[in-house]
Amino acid sequence: MNWGNIVWVPVFRKQAGIGINMIKLPIYLDYNATTPCDPRVVAAMFPYFTEKFGNAASRTHSFGWEGEEAVEYAREQVARLIGAEPKEVIFTSGATEGDNLAIKGVFEMYAGKGNHIITVATEHKAVLDTCGHLEKIGGEVTYLPVSREGLIDLAELEAAIKPTTILIAIMYANNEIGVIQPVREISRIARAHGVLFFTDAAQAVGKVRVDVNGDGIDLMTISAHKLYGPKGVGALYVRRKNPRVRLTAQIDGGGHERGMRSGTLNVPGIVGFGMACELCRLEMEADNERLTRLRDKLEKDLLQLELSCVNGSREFRLPHTSNISFQYVDAEGLITGVNKNIALSSGSACTSASLEPSYVLKALGLDDGLAHSSLRIGLGRFTTDEEIEYAIKELKEAVIRLRGINHQWELYKEGVGQKLINE
Ligand SMILES: *Cc1c(COP(=O)(O)O)cnc(C)c1O
Repeated sequence: MNWGNIVWVPVFRKQAGIGINMIKLPIYLDYNATTPCDPRVVAAMFPYFTEKFGNAASRTHSFGWEGEEAVEYAREQVARLIGAEPKEVIFTSGATEGDNLAIKGVFEMYAGKGNHIITVATEHKAVLDTCGHLEKIGGEVTYLPVSREGLIDLAELEAAIKPTTILIAIMYANNEIGVIQPVREISRIARAHGVLFFTDAAQAVGKVRVDVNGDGIDLMTISAHKLYGPKGVGALYVRRKNPRVRLTAQIDGGGHERGMRSGTLNVPGIVGFGMACELCRLEMEADNERLTRLRDKLEKDLLQLELSCVNGSREFRLPHTSNISFQYVDAEGLITGVNKNIALSSGSACTSASLEPSYVLKALGLDDGLAHSSLRIGLGRFTTDEEIEYAIKELKEAVIRLRGINHQWELYKEGVGQKLINE
């Protein structure tokens, strides 16, 4: 991989005692924010910038046909990954647009039936802010709480449904803690009450098996750049039968994508997205096995530090994501301290500019202090054993160093400080 501005450093493998393993710095451990394009994805896209540049909507010549054929092939690749029919895949500019189209589109289309939407406190901002917008124009939204594990309570979900409920919007897997919601049980409840079920699956598709029929999903967003495809492209899955879901378009124009999303299609992006989906379908299982092993090693080693804990369910979660709190360590300080060598974040890329602690962790019941001490570690397809070993060592040293200059930690060690984590 070409990572741009690369620094090569030798890292001695202690266990082996011999040989030098070269790793490239900085190490990228923020795969939940975005993933690099797989080189095979880039290779597939390349011709569609130059010689195969046709507008997929041009019906009168071979340039257009070539573009359309490439788009329809990609549509099949995306559909196959999620067990959908190609016609149920609507290309968008990404998950943010998909979230907006699904929620606003249902809200407008089903206005005659009701105005109530049920969602969850730990959703992505693209869902929460869209719901917030609808509340200003006559919508009613219920925000379900989550347990300490980050999971919703199914009985609470069912109790929240009213005659005016038109949509349940609950994410598949959380971007900050990786927790996977009980999607099949949610869809069963939605079906039983005749309510549509939409899920933001930007973090799940391509990482774990998602099957729109088996899972009972009516609408679902996907983002290419979270699964080793390009940025600025994604899809909204819209069920066509049992039930047939209808949407009011949010972008009007030439009537592309069955009228649900007008605008000239991003052919190279869509081609790359299709290829990325195909690679995930073929390699997800092997990738997951490897990443679970690396993630578990990372957690085991980091949890050797006193007063540290993993946030969210360790049973129902993505294989490559870990959110860890180190009490008495300011996560921003920790991240800044190591960011020459390790690229990390404390949570969502969208909110990391603000100094507010993560609303996701607060919804889990963490207090401000502990939420401020939390790190999200996202592994991915190009993460190596050597990188994880390096990251463990560097992070452990940084935590110990930062605690060494923290007065609160000193008090705790003297037995007068408070302890928030039950070790
Ligand atoms: C990244 C992400 C989004 C936004 O996707 P874009 O394609 O970048 O707009 C939405 N929801 C979740 C859960 C995400 O992780």
